[in-house]
Amino acid sequence: MNPNNDWFTIEEIDRFTFAISEYGHWEQFHSYLLIGQNEACLIDSGLGIGNIALECRKITDKPVKVITTHVHWDHIGGHKYYDKIYVHKDDSNWLENGLPISIESIRKSVTKIPFTKPLPEGFDINKYEVYQGKPFCELSDGDIIEISERRVEIIHTPGHSPGHICILEPETGYLFVGDLIYQGDLFAFFDSTDPIKYAASVRKITKLKKVKRIFPSHNQNDLPISFAHKVNQAFEELKRRKKLKHGSGIHKFDGFTIKI
Ligand SMILES: [Zn+2]
Ligand SMILES: [Zn+2]
Repeated sequence: MNPNNDWFTIEEIDRFTFAISEYGHWEQFHSYLLIGQNEACLIDSGLGIGNIALECRKITDKPVKVITTHVHWDHIGGHKYYDKIYVHKDDSNWLENGLPISIESIRKSVTKIPFTKPLPEGFDINKYEVYQGKPFCELSDGDIIEISERRVEIIHTPGHSPGHICILEPETGYLFVGDLIYQGDLFAFFDSTDPIKYAASVRKITKLKKVKRIFPSHNQNDLPISFAHKVNQAFEELKRRKKLKHGSGIHKFDGFTIKI
């Protein structure tokens, strides 16, 4: 019996690192599970359509803590299954007190495009809620989080949301980038986004020394470093053209668009 009905796809990145993906949803979401000796860490917890904790259980029986790349509804769907939630201090308020978007419009986003895989048992969009809760730990730029012997570094990358973070594991060169960059439409047009900070954050990650592979939250889940440089060049171009302000439009580039 699997109440999730194959909603999730588990892919091995290495023996101790996994992507848990939701390809049946139009947003093609990826959470990532990092296994240490005595504990594990989930980076984001998915769309909240199925029970991601059951998927983590298939991979490990170690206790799981959760790092949030940022507080948007699609990244915190499974937070309710866990106690140790880490979030950047500038997104913490949304986690505790809710997003400034109505539940009706979030439910519309969840079902905007028909699902392409069978849904988990009992899923009902009319009962879909967004997680709210007090974080276990508030993060700042440069913080180090230990997952037993593994160490990851928090890199504050505001712009898409005030407290957006990327998570770097220097040892493996893995950089988990959340919604900062991915193939598809990059969102910098919400009131709560800041296109200038967004551009600076993309630049910031291209300057990191130890990155070997990039793991975004949406669409293709393993990107080359060259992709970050491409997005950086695009933002540089928009800056030159004085387009880094809300309402400047939808800017198309090779493999992605930037909506400001
Ligand atoms: Zn987002
Ligand atoms: Zn997202």
